[in-house]
Amino acid sequence: MVHLRAREEQLRKRLAELGARLHRIDDHLGQPPDSDWEDNAIEAEMDEVLEGLGHAGNAEIQAIYSALARIKSGTYGVCTRCGIDISEKRLDVVPHTPLCRTCARGVEQKR
Ligand SMILES: [Zn+2]
Repeated sequence: MVHLRAREEQLRKRLAELGARLHRIDDHLGQPPDSDWEDNAIEAEMDEVLEGLGHAGNAEIQAIYSALARIKSGTYGVCTRCGIDISEKRLDVVPHTPLCRTCARGVEQKR
């Protein structure tokens, strides 16, 4: 089991990369909520910010924020759809994924 702190660092690093690329929302991301941030508030906030931007990175940024929120709430690494543990291998490749491999594949097929 990879330590959650390592995952969080990985996610924040990625977030910083994406943020640097998406200058329009960079200022917003420059005010990271530190301690007692509310998961829902952050997600709502990000929805608002990212709405209409249309960048490819937006979905990933949002997914990363959601993942960080899940780390906070202790549900990180559990599929948000079916509730099983997401494999460490998968999290290594896509640390922000909310879905296990089976569910992710199901989503892709619907597109
Ligand atoms: Zn699943």
